[in-house]
Amino acid sequence: MIRGLPEAFLRGLEDFPEDALFEGNADEVAALGRDASGRRGEAFVGPVVAPRDAEGVAALLSLATRTGTRIVPVGGRTGLSGGAAAEPGEVVLSLHRMNRILSFDEVGRLLTVQPAVTTQAIQEAAKEHGYFYPVDFASRGSSQIGGNIATNAGGIKVLRYGLTRNWVAGLKVVTATGQLLDLNRGLVKNATGYDLRHLFIGSEGTLGVIVEATLQLTDPPRQQQVMVLGLESLDAIVEVFSSLRRGLMLSAFEFFSSIALRHVLAAGARKPFDSDPPYYVLAEFDEDEAKAESLFEACVSQGLVCDGVLSQSGGQAAALWRLREGITESLAQYRPYKNDIAVRVGDVPAFLERINILFEREYPRFEVVWFGHIGDGNLHVSVLPPPGWSREAFEEECERVTHKLGELLAEFGGSISAEHGIGLLKRPYLHYTRSSAEVELMRQMKRVFDPAGILNPGKLFAS
Ligand SMILES: Cc1cc2nc3c(=O)[nH]c(=O)nc-3n(C[C@H](O)[C@H](O)[C@H](O)COP(=O)(O)OP(=O)(O)OC[C@H]3O[C@@H](n4cnc5c(N)ncnc54)[C@H](O)[C@@H]3O)c2cc1C
Repeated sequence: MIRGLPEAFLRGLEDFPEDALFEGNADEVAALGRDASGRRGEAFVGPVVAPRDAEGVAALLSLATRTGTRIVPVGGRTGLSGGAAAEPGEVVLSLHRMNRILSFDEVGRLLTVQPAVTTQAIQEAAKEHGYFYPVDFASRGSSQIGGNIATNAGGIKVLRYGLTRNWVAGLKVVTATGQLLDLNRGLVKNATGYDLRHLFIGSEGTLGVIVEATLQLTDPPRQQQVMVLGLESLDAIVEVFSSLRRGLMLSAFEFFSSIALRHVLAAGARKPFDSDPPYYVLAEFDEDEAKAESLFEACVSQGLVCDGVLSQSGGQAAALWRLREGITESLAQYRPYKNDIAVRVGDVPAFLERINILFEREYPRFEVVWFGHIGDGNLHVSVLPPPGWSREAFEEECERVTHKLGELLAEFGGSISAEHGIGLLKRPYLHYTRSSAEVELMRQMKRVFDPAGILNPGKLFAS
């Protein structure tokens, strides 16, 4: 259980409260060293330290820095790039015991929470107070706010509300040396130099551990309505987006292919309409039935849309959302190779044309599943392993193609990871998106906050 850990660290642990160590069976411990990326390294064997408060986190990190012990902070482990994956010789820092909602400030509309509160619990707490927390995605029931902040999570409402970063008004963070920082404290205005809060947002557990967050809430949106449209061509997507965006107050504009639909239907979702177009978009917007219908008809008469359905109840809207939100889960059994990429929204049509050519040429025998938050310029492309291929050969082939994809993204000034982070899986491709000068500055920042290099080593860049 303690293979590869420094003696001095193990001696130091003896001074920790008895219940600081998570005492699970081998499977439970191994699961805490794995995330949803599908990455299968050597099984993590423990130990798992699960502090009850910020002081416990600080004590662990300061001991780890003194003894050179590698620490992997984990939240809900729904991450898709191996950021929360641990190996033998590392220690998992699980925040799961720090899962309380601490306070609500009515005047400022601020909710202060511990790091393991789930995204869904935050949404529900906001609702109970009459407000709205707009960051939302399919893993909401398991993902935790600490992990959301550490990855600057996006999701389905970025189009209207932006990423997690926009909603973090204050952050308490413990750095690798055990220093507790109380950043911004819920202030709206604070022009006093570098905003360190933003450095920790998206830092993937490599600079410090988030032990508390103060979140800005907002007014709930008006009643929402959902429309799913069928399209004959990829080109039509952006034209439909522009047309709907001009006429409706959109909260989401999502895209999926007929292949994605086939998988989600096999997992139990209901077909939206009888026809079988190759592409689909899902739009969510402030209810406006008459306007939605007239825009739909205009899109049909221009030949952009060939079929469609408009929700008439909350239940129907949820059933339509399932078509998009169920895709990741419906593919999980195949352990797909995932790409989560982004270009400027205006570049989407030209980029789609190029990536389509690239993938048709490079993946002639693989099933490629397209979906994503197309209104943000964010595409998810999942590649399924063909029958008869070994896992190693499949991944090797996908990695070869990802370098070509990286070159294409560099040409467009796009991103190799739109919202899932770099973690371990996307590390070889970071240089397609960030210059060597940027990466070197990131390394230097890492050394400032984590001089012994103990926090999530090897994630984001090689340690
Ligand atoms: C079905 C499904 C759908 C998804 N959809 C989306 C989507 O639409 N948009 C999106 O952005 N993501 C999506 N994801 C990915 C994932 O849910 C998010 O990245 C989420 O924010 C991860 O949160 P987590 O608590 O599970 O973090 P984890 O996976 O546990 O960790 C993620 C990273 O954060 C670090 N970390 C965790 N907690 C802390 C902490 N307290 N302090 C410092 N570092 C910490 C970890 O070390 C790791 O690097 C999806 C995942 C699934 C399975």
